[in-house]
Amino acid sequence: MLNNSIHYRAGNLFADEISIEEIAEQVGTPVYIYSLKRMLHNLERIRSAFSVLKPEIHYSAKANANLAVLKTLVQAGAGIDAVSAGEIHKALLAGADTAHIVFAGVGKTRDELRYALEKQIGWINVENVGELESIQELAVLTDRKQVRVALRLNPDIAAPTHRHIATGHGAAKFGLSIQTVRELLRRQDDFPNVSIEGLHIHIGSQLHDTNATRQAVETVLEILHPYPTIRTINIGGGLAVAYSAEEPIPSWDDFGAAVTPLLKDYQVILEPGRSVIADAGLFVISVLYTKEQGGEHLLITDGSMAELIRPALYEAHHMIVPVADYKRDKRLYHVVGPVCESADALGHNIEIQATVTNEKLAVLTAGAYGMVMSSNYNQRLRPPEVVISPDGQSWQVARQRETWADLVSHEQ
Ligand SMILES: *Cc1c(COP(=O)(O)O)cnc(C)c1O
Repeated sequence: MLNNSIHYRAGNLFADEISIEEIAEQVGTPVYIYSLKRMLHNLERIRSAFSVLKPEIHYSAKANANLAVLKTLVQAGAGIDAVSAGEIHKALLAGADTAHIVFAGVGKTRDELRYALEKQIGWINVENVGELESIQELAVLTDRKQVRVALRLNPDIAAPTHRHIATGHGAAKFGLSIQTVRELLRRQDDFPNVSIEGLHIHIGSQLHDTNATRQAVETVLEILHPYPTIRTINIGGGLAVAYSAEEPIPSWDDFGAAVTPLLKDYQVILEPGRSVIADAGLFVISVLYTKEQGGEHLLITDGSMAELIRPALYEAHHMIVPVADYKRDKRLYHVVGPVCESADALGHNIEIQATVTNEKLAVLTAGAYGMVMSSNYNQRLRPPEVVISPDGQSWQVARQRETWADLVSHEQ
């Protein structure tokens, strides 16, 4: 959606002080563009919504792991929530303080855990009994006395089968059941090199309700009641972003207000991803062809599901707007890509001015779960990523467009 950074000036789309047309002309399309100013503003809005709690904010790198994005957030005081060793590697390259990196994830490999221990990563969020056993073993092997962990609770799943899950993999995907968390807390002495210092919840992404979060926090507090020395609660990410003007979402202040009275006496960690970067990002594409078929108007663009899979994968809706708005009459379009899949569309029944070949469009709110989920499907080249500086005045290519050499670089 449009916002303070992504806006029109005299009919031309701008990101801060920069014309989108200018970037698209110089770099070509398709291209991702991120306003670092908007991203930092979002970080501040989240901080202020939870200000009473003074939370540590660990940005969830899986939403957008571009190094320029990570560096800018780290410089603004954010830690990093990583879900793979690759994300830890990028967090370290971005200059993140190891104490402020969390390693989360449902299926951490032993190599990944060893890497995290060797790098003295601040927290490991444990999702499996076997994982905790591995951490204990690896702690001994790597000479670590006190590996700090949080247990990830799944407040919705009480099935006792969770405790039978083997190391790393299993049918239960999210967190540990209430019963398993209680049992592990009782068994802390079995893990002498591990220090359980917090509980973690992440009940979902794009949360449309503050009640579920509040209930989850209440469950956490009840579990922790007999353990007054455990002082940290990580309430995960999930703050919602409006993808259209009609989408009803709770404000971040509502979220803050819902949990603040409950968590006042705790050290709180937040792991926002989408809310930090989604509406700071654009995916800019060009119309290759128009087509009228079966009574429908199609815009065939140079952007596809290979670069932005959310519409194909989740039937996610993104607003799509012209880069130059000539205020022509509007019509309903299907905006589709060149990939050989009928799921390959960026939007259906999108109302846009009558549009012709070579005109550019911007897919809005594309900063999160866009580039990170892109692929080379159909041997397409991943697009470049452009960042606009935090003062809004200049821009640079933060990641180059891939080349044909990249396509074959691992096959030689
Ligand atoms: C994906 C994820 C997040 C971030 O979620 P958003 O909805 O992008 O804020 C936070 N914590 C964990 C454990 C995650 O898996």
